[in-house]
Parts: sequence; structure tokens; C-alpha cells
Amino acid sequence: MTEHPTVAAFGRSEGKLTVGGVPVDRLADRAGSTPYFAYDRQLLTDRIAQLRAALPEGLNLSYAVKANPMPAVVQHLSGLVDSFDVASSAEMLVALDTTVPANRISFAGPGKTDTELRQAVAAGVTIEMESENEADRLVRIGELLGVRPRVAVRVNPDFALKGSGMRMGGGPQQFGVDAERVPALLKRLGDTDLEFLGFHVFAGSQNLRAESLIDAQRHTVDLVLRLAEDAATPVRYVNLGGGFGIPYTDKDQPLDLAAVGDNLSELLTGRLRPALPEARVVVELGRYIVGESGVYVTRVVDRKESRGKTFLVVDGGLHHQLAASGNFGQVIRRNYPLAVGTGFGAEPVETVSVVGSLCTPLDLLGDNVTLPRADVGDLIVIFQAGAYGLTASPTAFLSHPAAAEMLV
Ligand SMILES: *Cc1c(COP(=O)(O)O)cnc(C)c1O
Repeated sequence: MTEHPTVAAFGRSEGKLTVGGVPVDRLADRAGSTPYFAYDRQLLTDRIAQLRAALPEGLNLSYAVKANPMPAVVQHLSGLVDSFDVASSAEMLVALDTTVPANRISFAGPGKTDTELRQAVAAGVTIEMESENEADRLVRIGELLGVRPRVAVRVNPDFALKGSGMRMGGGPQQFGVDAERVPALLKRLGDTDLEFLGFHVFAGSQNLRAESLIDAQRHTVDLVLRLAEDAATPVRYVNLGGGFGIPYTDKDQPLDLAAVGDNLSELLTGRLRPALPEARVVVELGRYIVGESGVYVTRVVDRKESRGKTFLVVDGGLHHQLAASGNFGQVIRRNYPLAVGTGFGAEPVETVSVVGSLCTPLDLLGDNVTLPRADVGDLIVIFQAGAYGLTASPTAFLSHPAAAEMLV
């Protein structure tokens, strides 16, 4: 069997998996405890290089911080991407601590409070408005602070991204202003002291089908060009969204990035540049940038037999890495790639289930996986932990200790 591409990208040394060149057991000693998350700095750098090679020159690459907001990760990426997309004021502050200037940070998300809007206006980031109400509040806040808010309209498109793991556009949505309501909003904005920059369209997430992404990008450009006709000032910002997926399970085929890049190149030079010459055109990616570069490492604390089945019970679980248990929006539970980090590359000899330490049957990390022999003290590595890991998990559930995080 060929190795899963995400697994194959990691290093190995003397029968152990390495992250950033350091064996996982050494990292456990360095962290002082297990479980831990480790993110491979070089894999992050390599991923950005792959994206730069595939995407057209002049297209801006934005990192969606919510995928992994660890400050060290955001700092590392700040030297590699063009801009950041944040979805809370805490994420905004992490982004502002980097060298990326405020005018390259955009703030999206429904339900922004007045406090968050004030922070965003004061900081000078671009606020992606999700409703007419948000626009009205921004006008007041701008007057109050004596600062002209920089705004874009997040548009809920009149189409959906087919085959997405998570749909975030099309039909009724809490995200964005319905496309058909945008012309009226633009008219109102013309009478306010908001600095209108452009449009943001985000149709969905976790898509592995290039043809679906290409289709959505074409529709997005059609929509933006149509809406731009109603803008009072030239459009200076077009955020085309992202949605690039990663292969979580053995059944998933990696995205054909070259095909997506070629289409973006055509759209940029053939349509957007001629019609909107002043626009900074952006794609925003979260999991595609960080997801495959991280692992969750947890130690076997018990090995038990129950009616013919072997369980490896580990010191971690869904409270740190919910997604691997299949409870983070998945329809069908499938195992994430998983390995014995302290017996890496050894012959698989047995079928076991890897379960976490929480007192609930939901805490299943690997269901009937074929692995090399692992005993108490061995380290189990769960891949695809770089995005929506620790911060997307119910860390307080059952009050177990926290997991460490390291960028290596
Ligand atoms: C979550 C989110 C992203 C990132 O999604 P990924 O699937 O991680 O790439 C990008 N843009 C917006 C607006 C988001 O809400």
C-alpha cells in the first residue's frame, strides 16, 4: 500500500517519525508532557512555495487565521503570505502583532459586536460587512472615533460551491449580504463616510474537486463584475474566497492545484484585470496552508483486550483533536491517517482501535486500524492536525489537562 501523501511528507529517523527534524519522543521530552501538537515549519514553507508556483503572479494569498491561530504559526506565515483574514478581535490582535500591515488584514464573520467593530476601525483593518446593520453601526463608530472605516461587502452568492465539506454561501445564510440586496446597500454606502474597498465572496470549504472550485470561481467573478457596476468608487479589493480541501482520509484524492491555478490565472488576466484594474485580488486559505503540516501526538497509557478486540487507550482524545474523532461536521466517520510514531515504518502486525481517555464512546481516534505493535509508553501520531485542531476542540470537556503546542 502506498503511504498517504500527508504522512509521506514527514521525516523519519531510526524508526521514529520526526517533526522539523526532531523525533516525536524527543519532542515529548521537550514539551514536558503528552499529548502535544507539533507543526512543521519547513512543511508550512514548502506549502506556500507550492501555492506560489501554481497561482498566478499578482494574485494575493491570504491566510485564514482561524484554521490555526497559534501566534508562532501566524508569525511564521506573516513572512510568506500577502495578507491575513481574521474572524475575531483576538485573532486580529495576533495578526497585528506580525509585520503584515493593518491594511492587509480583513475581518470577516457574523455577529461582530460594537466593541469588535471599534477595535477593527481603530486598527485600520478592512471590515468585511455581513449585513446592512453592520454597515449602519460602522458609520456611527467611524464618526465617534473620527476614523474612516475601511469596508468591503461580504456577499452571500446566488450560487453554491458543489461538493464542499462545509457550505457557507448560497441560499439563506448568516454570512454576507444576499447578492440581490447588494446594489441597494452600495447606494446607501455612497452617502456615508465609509471607505468602500470591494467585495468578499466565500462559497464553501474543504473541496477536493478542482472542477467545482473552478466553477465557483467563475461564478464569483461574474457576480463581482456585475456588482461592481453599482459601486460609487473603483473597486480596490476582490476576495474570491478559497475552499481548497486537503485529503483527510485514504479515500480522498489530493486537489489538482495546477488546474485551479490555471483557471485563476485566466480569470485574473482575462477578466478581473481589464475590468477592475485597481483591485487587489485575493484567495484566502486556511486548512490548505496549515492542515497537513501538523500532528497530534499522544501516549499509550493502556493496552487492553475486550472480547477479542484490542484497544490502545491514549492520554489524549477528542477534547484536543475533535476532528479526528469524526465529530467536527463529518457526515461519515472515517479514520484520519494515524501511525505509531515510536515504531514508524515497522511492519503492521495487528488491527486495533485507538481510543482517547474521555469517558464517552465518541472518543474514538482510530477505528480498527492496522498498525505495528504498540505498547504502553509508545507514541501514537494522528495526522491532519495542523488546522481546526486544538482551537476547534472542546478542551474543557471532562477537565483533562491541556495539550502543548510547538512550532518546530
Ligand atoms: C473559515 C474560513 C476560511 C478558511 O477555510 P478553510 O476551509 O480552512 O480554507 C476562509 N474564509 C472565510 C471567510 C472563512 O470563514
